[in-house]
Amino acid sequence: MAPLTPHWSQPSHPTIQKVMIPSDPNDFTTKSISLINLPPYALYAKLSFPPCTEAEKPTYATVQKGRDEHLNLNSDLVYINHSCEPSVIFDTTSLSILAGPRGLKAGEELTFFYPSTEWDMAQGFSCFCGAETCRGYISGAKNMKPEQLEGVWLNAHIRALLEERDAGVDGVKTKDATEEALKSALDQARKMVDAAQKALDTYKSIHGRSSVDDLGSTGGKGANRQNGVGSRELSGEMGGDTKVMV
Ligand SMILES: [Zn+2]
Repeated sequence: MAPLTPHWSQPSHPTIQKVMIPSDPNDFTTKSISLINLPPYALYAKLSFPPCTEAEKPTYATVQKGRDEHLNLNSDLVYINHSCEPSVIFDTTSLSILAGPRGLKAGEELTFFYPSTEWDMAQGFSCFCGAETCRGYISGAKNMKPEQLEGVWLNAHIRALLEERDAGVDGVKTKDATEEALKSALDQARKMVDAAQKALDTYKSIHGRSSVDDLGSTGGKGANRQNGVGSRELSGEMGGDTKVMV
């Protein structure tokens, strides 16, 4: 795979994103760091057209936004790595990148769950994100079991494609799609309650007020989560960065 040659002027998002490019040409661990703090589900960036353009098929530089629709990012947003415990959400319905359920902190790595947009990736890779919930080999939602996708935010086109795939077994629809959709909505709502409770607790603790866990929040996952590589680069898709490709 040819190395990714940025054809846009860099940095493309200087106020919100810092791209960390390793100096060692054999090190493919390019990653992106957030420069801003955001509460849960707040808007991080729009996937605007332009710079985004339609793409005919998936590549290392595209994001799937519909059943047969892909977009070229044409910006530094392409350097947002995969993680199985991601910090941001690519919402292809609203063409937005949102902070994840824990919110976003300046200095935190920007990651998203590639199978939340990608049905069948051009090239799979082994994830080393280090999360307890790491799914291992990542090649798109098409190749993942339902239990591997439980509790994860997924785009509508991925949910629809999964529904079709799983209904095809023995020609019998084994799950009630409406019930599944409502369960999923409930699951997401619970996560938002947890996130809001956590935000309130944090606010109270900062302002010297005692924390009341009146909603029985389970709290978020550990804030000290270590992101591994698990990147497009690791799969060789990008083949490193251009600044070292003299
Ligand atoms: Zn992982």
